[in-house]
Amino acid sequence: MLTTQRDFGDRTDRKHARLKYTIADRGLTWFRGEVERRSGIRFAGVRRFAFTTIQDPHGWQPCADGSWFYGLHLLSGRIKDVAGWPMKTALREIAAIHTGDFRLTPSQNLTISGVTTAQKPAIEAILQKHGLAGENARSGLRLNALSCVALPTCGLALGESERMLPALLEKFETVLDGAGLQADAISLRVTGCPNGCARPYLAEIGLVAKAPNKYALYLGASYNGTRLNRLFSPSITPDDAVALLTPIIRRYALERQPGEGFGDWCNHAVLPKDATFHSVGTKA
Ligand code: SF4
Repeated sequence: MLTTQRDFGDRTDRKHARLKYTIADRGLTWFRGEVERRSGIRFAGVRRFAFTTIQDPHGWQPCADGSWFYGLHLLSGRIKDVAGWPMKTALREIAAIHTGDFRLTPSQNLTISGVTTAQKPAIEAILQKHGLAGENARSGLRLNALSCVALPTCGLALGESERMLPALLEKFETVLDGAGLQADAISLRVTGCPNGCARPYLAEIGLVAKAPNKYALYLGASYNGTRLNRLFSPSITPDDAVALLTPIIRRYALERQPGEGFGDWCNHAVLPKDATFHSVGTKA
C-alpha cells in the first residue's frame, strides 16, 4: 500500500496528496489490484466489520503468536524528557534490552511489540523505575485526546494545539470529575489550523484554531468515527469553550441513555437543527 501511494499519489499538490484522493481518482478496484500485484497477496472478499472503539489497547496484551505487546499512552504522541516524566530515557533503556519492535499508532500512542513472556518483567521494571507505569491510568478524555503539532513546528499553524492541550485537558477533567464522568471515553481533538491533521472533524469535541487563542468549536461526531461533527461555535477561546461546555457536560451526565456517547447525545440534544451558532452566554 505504501509503495502504491508513493508511486501514484499526487505528492506535488498538498491538497490532493492523501491516499483517499488516489483511491477516489483511480477507483478501489484498481487500488486493490495494484496492491495485490505488488505484494503477491490475494485479498479475501469483503467481510462485515464494526468499529466499536477508537482507543488503543493499553497495558500488556497477548498476541496470537504467544508474544505480548505493551500499549503505552503518549499525550500528542510526544516522546521527550521533562522533569518528572523521563519518557525518552525510559524508552531508550527499553530499546537496549528489547528484541521486538516499537510501533506508533494512528491515535498517537506507542506499542512495545514482540515481547516474550520472559522479557515482560524487565520492561515493566524500567517503566516502574521512571514512574511511567501509571501512564495508562488517565481520564477517558485524556486517553482519547489528539492534537497536531501546530506552533512552533508547523508553518501553517494559526494557533496553538499540542502545547495548549495539557492545560485544556486539565480544565475539562475538572468538569468531568464533577459530573462523575472521569472514566468515560470522550474524544477531544485540537488542531492549529483547518487542515485538521489530528482529525478534529471526527471528534466529539473538536477545536480548530482560526487565529491566536481563537478556535472553531465542533460537537456531535460519533465516538467511533462514523459521523462527522458540526460547527457549534465559530470563534471561541479555549477557556470560553470550557465554560460553554460545562453545563452541557453536566446535562449529558444526567440525561444520557445507558451507553450513549457524548457526541451522539450532543447530536440530538444540543446541536441546533438550524444554522444558529452558539457563543459564551448562549444557553444551549
Ligand atoms: S492541522 Fe494545520 S497546524 Fe496542525 S499540523 Fe496540520 S497543517 Fe499544521
